Amino acid sequence: MSMNRRDFLKTAAAGSGILLASTVTPANASMPKELPPEAVGILYDATLCIGCKSCMVNCKTYNNVPGGALYLPGRATSYEVKPGEPYWDSATDLSSKTVNVIKVNKSGTAVNKDNNENGYSFIKQHCLHCITPACVSVCPVGALRKNPVTGVVYYEESRCIGCRYCMIGCPFNIPRYEYERAIPQVRKCQLCQHRYEEGKYSACCEFCPTGASIFGKVVDLRKEAAKRLTLKPGDVYDFPVQTVGSKEKSRRPVSKYINHVYGMKEAGGTQYLLLAGVPFDWLGFNKNISEAYLPDLTWAYIAKIPAVIAGVILVGTATWAITKNRNKDKEE
Ligand code: SF4
Ligand code: SF4
Ligand code: SF4
Repeated sequence: MSMNRRDFLKTAAAGSGILLASTVTPANASMPKELPPEAVGILYDATLCIGCKSCMVNCKTYNNVPGGALYLPGRATSYEVKPGEPYWDSATDLSSKTVNVIKVNKSGTAVNKDNNENGYSFIKQHCLHCITPACVSVCPVGALRKNPVTGVVYYEESRCIGCRYCMIGCPFNIPRYEYERAIPQVRKCQLCQHRYEEGKYSACCEFCPTGASIFGKVVDLRKEAAKRLTLKPGDVYDFPVQTVGSKEKSRRPVSKYINHVYGMKEAGGTQYLLLAGVPFDWLGFNKNISEAYLPDLTWAYIAKIPAVIAGVILVGTATWAITKNRNKDKEE
């Protein structure tokens, strides 16, 4: 896709117009600080994860539809295909086309599962759906929002001005930006909220064969996580599969857990909770993350500098256009 001078000016004008039309108010600065009683989320148990990546594949498949986190009108697939390479997608990190990623961390001989000495552990990374999300609080035009009932943190692309404050504000480094597009969107997991009306839930949980990822009300997920921490390694336990209240169980011996439910307190609490057999900082999660509500801090700073937004849009768009034209010149 190439952009000429006229296209660039149109895009820049549109960006500035949106900015002027938008009331830069702290619309989300007064979010409730409590978990909504009906809030939904995911519990991921790394000791049950086998690294099959079924959750990644089905995340892409079921989010590449209208309302999905990866949908783009006219795009047939959200799989990442590099020119000249066979049709294959093996994303190793989050990107504008990957909002859920399974990673493996290993040390030494890497033979012991769920062990950080000569061992390895899987980890599933996506938006944590913070109870008081910093990304929502820093967005000056309310493009990122939190559903007051489900607690899902979602994105309204028609409002976005491309300032990328959400990427800076997120303490977990989650939102990704479509640098490759002239009018980019931010992409992140929206907890598959587009599937709820059909009675469905997160695709990553529906298609997880082991129960490593389960969906449910956060209050129930918290109870399930706390219960697992009371079990002795080697005890046999019926782990629910797909949802926390599921009748389908996976009966297997309990592994040794680190005595910590990640997401109970971090950044004021999150709706994505994690259990693991190794320390979370070894899995790439910041162990020093504040337990305070971050939005109060972030909005106080962001609200003072709305003029920067216009600069970001114009400079960002100009850079994109220049880079594209340079690439085009090189190709020619
Ligand atoms: S993890 Fe980041 S992107 Fe997700 S809700 Fe929290 S602040 Fe927002
Ligand atoms: S909840 Fe949906 S969008 Fe989020 S990681 Fe799971 S499948 Fe992907
Ligand atoms: S589908 Fe379940 S077991 Fe497979 S990689 Fe994802 S979380 Fe792990």
